[in-house]
Amino acid sequence: MRKKIVIIGSGIAGLTVGSLLKSHSNFDVMVYEREKILSLDDGYGIQLSPNSVSILNKIGFSNIENNNFFNPSRLNFYSINNNKVCDLNLTRFNTDSARYTTLKRSTLIEFLKDGLFANNIRFGKEVKKISKIKEKLLVNFSDNTNDLADFVIVSDGVFSKTKSIIENKNTKPFYSGSIAIRTTIKSSEGFNYESENISLIMFPRAHLVIYPMNKKNELNLVCVVRQKLSKNNDIHSIIKKEILSQNKNLENLFKGTLESWPIYITKKPSKSIYKNLFYLGDAFYTFSPTIAQGASQSIVGANQLFDLLSKETKEIQDIYFKQRLESTKLIDSRAKLNYFSFHLSNPFIVRFRNMMLKTITKNEKLLDIYLRNIYETV
Ligand SMILES: Cc1cc2nc3c(=O)[nH]c(=O)nc-3n(C[C@H](O)[C@H](O)[C@H](O)COP(=O)(O)OP(=O)(O)OC[C@H]3O[C@@H](n4cnc5c(N)ncnc54)[C@H](O)[C@@H]3O)c2cc1C
Repeated sequence: MRKKIVIIGSGIAGLTVGSLLKSHSNFDVMVYEREKILSLDDGYGIQLSPNSVSILNKIGFSNIENNNFFNPSRLNFYSINNNKVCDLNLTRFNTDSARYTTLKRSTLIEFLKDGLFANNIRFGKEVKKISKIKEKLLVNFSDNTNDLADFVIVSDGVFSKTKSIIENKNTKPFYSGSIAIRTTIKSSEGFNYESENISLIMFPRAHLVIYPMNKKNELNLVCVVRQKLSKNNDIHSIIKKEILSQNKNLENLFKGTLESWPIYITKKPSKSIYKNLFYLGDAFYTFSPTIAQGASQSIVGANQLFDLLSKETKEIQDIYFKQRLESTKLIDSRAKLNYFSFHLSNPFIVRFRNMMLKTITKNEKLLDIYLRNIYETV
């Protein structure tokens, strides 16, 4: 019998699971999004590791126009004064069809949206209440409409209001202690790093990540800076104090429009009180961005749910939670270690960190231990 699946939120997680489920004839899928239109956040870049690219390939990702993405082959680590510490060969995790990929978030969202029909998404819909009716879930929206579902997937992001409503408790994320500052730069404008690879530059209280988002010379720059939570952060002063005071040569990178936002992360993965309701993407668990796995894990989680639902697995809730918990623990420990080691100030410890980075990036066994389980394709 056909099953009705309601998805809350049309970010990377919601759209991926929606597209996967739509490809299966047993499901009627409806995505409900709070905003009036799809949030494209044009300009923002996303890195996708091979694990998520292999899943996206199932729904036609390999057909994305060649100019609209990039396949960097290396992650280069630099110290404050632009000295290269070492590099990580990203191609060793690639397969023929799934390669480490960077692109604009908007390109990914547009691609995912195209996998759904217009009548599979409703905009301007915010969940007011979810209640159990026999084996089904009734979703009530604030515009007094409702939908009855066999399964509900909640993928409404890090602040997941729906989660607080359902679980009837405070599920707020907490401030990570850092803000993100973002801009777009052109590789033609005096760019001193390798424009075809990813550059990671480490400072005592910050790190910068720069990578190509397509083959049109557009690079994404994200700067993660340790900072107290404040409503009135002066981004230019922060950049001056934490970055430019240590390396004046980077002034060129911050000439464009700068955007900033506080980075929130979650305390623990979420499991619902309802057996047929699942949290996905940032609503399940939000990682620190220091391992660039938020989007990729949203996609991996979407695929795990899709597999379980399409095989009509019993006890989906428990199996899904166990699978996600395992990956989450592993990635979270790496993300926290990266966060700590990317921001060091003591010169002796920095020297030791650089030595360790050189050793790990050149040692296949250690690299496999650190990254293979995360990047490996399914
Ligand atoms: C600085 C930074 C850099 C990052 N870089 C990377 C990277 O390089 N690689 C990577 O893999 N990840 C990266 N991430 C993480 C990644 O962007 C997120 O993990 C990912 O986008 C999460 O997707 P999502 O669909 O779960 O949530 P979101 O993208 O937040 O989508 C949630 C959707 O739900 C909607 N919504 C919200 N509330 C409601 C409601 N009540 N009802 C209905 N709809 C609702 C929202 O409007 C939105 O459309 C980065 C994160 C940060 C902060």
